[in-house]
Amino acid sequence: MKSAFPLIMVLLFLVNGSLRSQSVLNETNKENAQKIITMAMESDVAWNRLTYMADTFGHRFSGSESLEKSIDWIVETMEQDGFDKVWTQPVMVPHWVRNEESATLISPRKKNLPMLGLGGSVATPKEGITAEVIVVKSFEELEKVKDRVEGKIVLFNAEFTSYGRTVQYRTNGAIEAAKHGAVASLIRSVGPYSMQTPHTGVMYYEDDVKKIPHAAITVEDAMLIQRLYDRGESIKIHLQMNAETFPDTESRNIIAEIKGTEHPEEIVVLGGHIDSWDVGQGVMDDGGGSIAAWEAVRIMNEMGIKPKRTIRVVLWTSEEVGIQGGNEYHRWVKEEEQSLDDHILAMESDAGVFDPLGFGFTGSEEAFQILTEIGTLLKPIDSGEVTKGGGGADIGPLMREGVPGMGLVVDGSRYFWYHHTAADTMDKLDKEDFNECVATMAVFAYAAADIEQRIPR
Ligand SMILES: [Zn+2]
Repeated sequence: MKSAFPLIMVLLFLVNGSLRSQSVLNETNKENAQKIITMAMESDVAWNRLTYMADTFGHRFSGSESLEKSIDWIVETMEQDGFDKVWTQPVMVPHWVRNEESATLISPRKKNLPMLGLGGSVATPKEGITAEVIVVKSFEELEKVKDRVEGKIVLFNAEFTSYGRTVQYRTNGAIEAAKHGAVASLIRSVGPYSMQTPHTGVMYYEDDVKKIPHAAITVEDAMLIQRLYDRGESIKIHLQMNAETFPDTESRNIIAEIKGTEHPEEIVVLGGHIDSWDVGQGVMDDGGGSIAAWEAVRIMNEMGIKPKRTIRVVLWTSEEVGIQGGNEYHRWVKEEEQSLDDHILAMESDAGVFDPLGFGFTGSEEAFQILTEIGTLLKPIDSGEVTKGGGGADIGPLMREGVPGMGLVVDGSRYFWYHHTAADTMDKLDKEDFNECVATMAVFAYAAADIEQRIPR
């Protein structure tokens, strides 16, 4: 019995040792991850920056002065952060201005309809459009009543099921309505819950189909009009929209990085989109994701962490109106920097900065296993779960060429309440949740950049 004890110790050591040799994480990785989490959770810096930016400059709509002023401020502040490199990349972006707009129910009774024109919509004639309304719940229903659409306003009263399924009425509603001779189209706002808040968002036209004004009214009013319509009432709406489209203007992607010590040419990129819609403060979508990504890299820099590979934060411009920033970054990476093959991982946060759960990943099984192990570092704040499938609009162009990509997954229960509305404001966010998003992005980016093994494709 006396000699059995040391033997067990030796066996335990061997088992433990052999397990450790399979692990991608070493002791330094574990210690640094813990320090990053502590630093992110205790810091006020990013929260104060987000608040300052949102309150000082307001929304950051493509083509707006407030977007460019926000970018100027970010670049200036990043330069003071002491990154190895900070630069911007010119990007031409659409320039659409909403101007004054309104919708009024005229018949069967007069009522103001809170509304938002959809991004890119044409204006009504100066005197507005007054027309009878035809209500449908889907494109299939529109097809059935197409002979009665001529000269009318079509209201698409599509109930929110998922964003992906419901958003088609916003993006393509004007095209489908105009094909049958409608003079304008309206949608029920794309959201699962409403307090009379209209939701805006991008919409499209087709070249050979007449361009008609397209706007969103609230869920409540769409349901009201549906009830009146079902009762056989004759419904008339007056629509007034004065939107203008100007030539494209120049905006910028913002880029900052910490150079890798052993493989500086290999890049882990993370970011969000710095533009927003022209209502609210765009802090959920996506000021929060942008500043969280920036902060993730800033705290590593401040702590003096020197990863083996380069960590790069990119704040992409003009995602909302066509992903111009993400496309330009991809073009530059491919044609100028020629680093597409050395982009080992792309990460994006664009689902709000609520309580984070982990990341949704798209890439190989082997890479998934490695990232799953990296996720264990986030046990203290329970945000390290890696699930299959996910990415982001801005990193989409990289991912389509094989770069492993992932999107931050958060508690999404409230995201679409405020999405693209005047209510996307600071008061909806929680500092602890936000800091957990910072920690989650930072730990994944750090570990992916610092482990021995390069994340495989
Ligand atoms: Zn977004």
